[in-house]
Amino acid sequence: MIQNLVIGNWKMNGSFAANEQLLDALLPALAGLETVGIALCPPFPYLSQADWRLKDSGIALGAQNLNEHEAGAHTGEVSAAMLKDLGCRYVLVGHSERRSLYGETDADTAAKFSAARAAGVVPVLCVGETLAERERDETTAVVYRQLDAIRSRLGARAFAGSVVAYEPVWAIGTGLSATPEQAQVVHAAIRQYLCECDTITGPDIALLYGGSVKADNAAALLAQPDINGALVGGAALDADAFAAICRAANG
Ligand code: PEP
Repeated sequence: MIQNLVIGNWKMNGSFAANEQLLDALLPALAGLETVGIALCPPFPYLSQADWRLKDSGIALGAQNLNEHEAGAHTGEVSAAMLKDLGCRYVLVGHSERRSLYGETDADTAAKFSAARAAGVVPVLCVGETLAERERDETTAVVYRQLDAIRSRLGARAFAGSVVAYEPVWAIGTGLSATPEQAQVVHAAIRQYLCECDTITGPDIALLYGGSVKADNAAALLAQPDINGALVGGAALDADAFAAICRAANG
């Protein structure tokens, strides 16, 4: 049985003061949720602040991005080893905003996934189709192409111990969530892909849904057999909404 996991992606939001306020409200609201795994991904400058506040809470720390190189002349970049040093358990790779706004390719994403694994940080691989791709009936082909990039670089066992998040691009930040049935169809296809890669570990990889998850749609999404949690953007900045999503995932 896979433990449900809810990851909050703060994107490029926050300040020391705003984060304190959010965490002051969030930490008591999340206390006592014992069966769901929870992680927060603040922007880089606030990782230490969050790490300090999350100590002894059982809530894990994650980052939103990393550079694929180990060290050296990469001004402005942050390595996987640095994230590990800062206490990150997770790192998002291939988020659609990285792909669409910063030109990150499938190959770049695979290199980042590989760097995270090498440093002992769990990569959360984001995959998903645009609206145009869905309308052309290419959803599975796009998601499989994004998964193939990881498999070609690291082999069929690449995904063991990682997390995969299905995030339809048209649902991110739009308020237009996939229906539970639409999401389940894609999650089942991802599960099949992962099991074909490795029959032993494939069934145990956590598959998160992301794209306008809110307090009022979380339970229905999480009730689907192949949805093991949520990657939450906008609602992660609202303590009540995020806590309600985590409660829905707590079983
Ligand atoms: C995200 O940023 O990964 C995301 C899913 O955002 P939102 O929940 O706002 O759609």
